[in-house]
Amino acid sequence: MSLEDIMSTYSRTDLIFEFGQGSWLFTKDGKKILDFNSGIAVNALGHCHPHLVDCLQSQIKKLWHCSNLYRIESQELLASRLVASSFADSVFFCNSGAESVEAAIKVARRYSQTQNKNKKKYKIIVTTNAFHGRTLATISAGGQEKHLEGFYPAVDGFTRVEFGNISQLKENIDEETIAILVEPIQGEGGINKAADTYLREIREICNHRDLVLIFDEVQCGMGRSGRLFAHEMYNVFPDIMCLAKGLGGGFPVGACLATKKVSQHMTPGTHGSTFGGNPLAMTAANALLDIILSEGFLDNVNKSSRRLIDGLQRIIAKHQNVFLKLKGQGLMLGIKCIVPNSLIVDRLVEGGLLSVVAGDNVVRLLPPLNISYEEIDIAINIIDEVANRIEIDNVKK
Ligand SMILES: *Cc1c(COP(=O)(O)O)cnc(C)c1O
Repeated sequence: MSLEDIMSTYSRTDLIFEFGQGSWLFTKDGKKILDFNSGIAVNALGHCHPHLVDCLQSQIKKLWHCSNLYRIESQELLASRLVASSFADSVFFCNSGAESVEAAIKVARRYSQTQNKNKKKYKIIVTTNAFHGRTLATISAGGQEKHLEGFYPAVDGFTRVEFGNISQLKENIDEETIAILVEPIQGEGGINKAADTYLREIREICNHRDLVLIFDEVQCGMGRSGRLFAHEMYNVFPDIMCLAKGLGGGFPVGACLATKKVSQHMTPGTHGSTFGGNPLAMTAANALLDIILSEGFLDNVNKSSRRLIDGLQRIIAKHQNVFLKLKGQGLMLGIKCIVPNSLIVDRLVEGGLLSVVAGDNVVRLLPPLNISYEEIDIAINIIDEVANRIEIDNVKK
């Protein structure tokens, strides 16, 4: 066994987790760590939730994969549930966030090029600090130089404007523009919440100019914001939405949801995915929905969010040499730091709390959506202690 044998696309912390239980991870050498990373917003119900375990265990004895050349009941069920709980009329299933964004780009192009019988219409407006995945088209849409370096040429057709700047967006729309792609709450970019008016104005522009509005809710979707989908709190609805991360509760599932209007030209043969929508993945996502859609679940997410926000605000006010401010919504929170965010994340791991960095010198906190008050209080104490120690170290210097 050797880390050397893995292509080194990640710099890894030297921790090996042997198992997880609820909000906790246990290392091979017996260390217990509270998980406020959740596999980067993936383990929405923590680790090995009994309902997911039961559903997957019974499905694994029946059927894993059979291909989309045949009907898959669990896929039809999940699609119906997602359609019933959203603006959308149909769903394409894939296996990751990047694939769901790729699907969204294809649906938008197909709609515009078929409607207009014009191959020159393909430009999509994207924003600064965006993240949409690591395929060639999605690094081009994300536009971060650190993701593009060495991988040029970028995929053509993305026009970048400043996140939040509506007049710049308007100025950059031309005859070739077909769509606007934006995260309602930017995740990797540093937990940046779009302003109410921003998304509302974008929707109006899209209506007015017949542009397709795509929301990338890969990170902020599936209850993370305190609503099932983050755009609900803005009361602004897209034509296409990308989901993944939390959707399978830890199992790889991606989905691209769309209205009938924009997806009508996606006919047999226009897109596909061998693994997309397989029975195991669909079982995981259906089991996750059983819990997330159950009475009172999202209310509890909001109550937990309140408790975590109150605690974090107290600590941030107390340690003004370490932390600057709190950002985010629901259980998708970020602490903008004064000291380097990676230092905080490393110290938190030593103190027994897992978190993850984001852009803008932010430490991201993405606990399981079913986190308990007791666990929230433990996390707040660990963060407080880490900040205390950093302040003491700084005074000594
Ligand atoms: C993580 C993420 C993606 C990419 O998802 P992968 O499953 O890693 O391909 C896309 N968009 C957003 C907003 C994300 O947070």
